Amino acid sequence: MQLDKKICGDCSHCLEILQIVADGEASPQEIQFFEEHICECSHCKECFEVEQNLRICLQQRLEKRLVPQEIVHFVQCICGTTKL
Ligand SMILES: [Zn+2]
Repeated sequence: MQLDKKICGDCSHCLEILQIVADGEASPQEIQFFEEHICECSHCKECFEVEQNLRICLQQRLEKRLVPQEIVHFVQCICGTTKL
């Protein structure tokens, strides 16, 4: 394991969950695991933000609607502005 970057030892696993969470198809356990993980792993947090922005852009293009409320809520939870 490389120590030159702040990357957790389990990123491959949590990046899989990242995809599910970003798709809005994760279970509460998976979301909780992921939220706890990105508090400590800046690498996965950045990846998640990129993924989420990507999906929001795609969704807006496809549906021409505002950002879904669940995503807004989830981002707020991650940022610590609200609690689950
Ligand atoms: Zn990670």
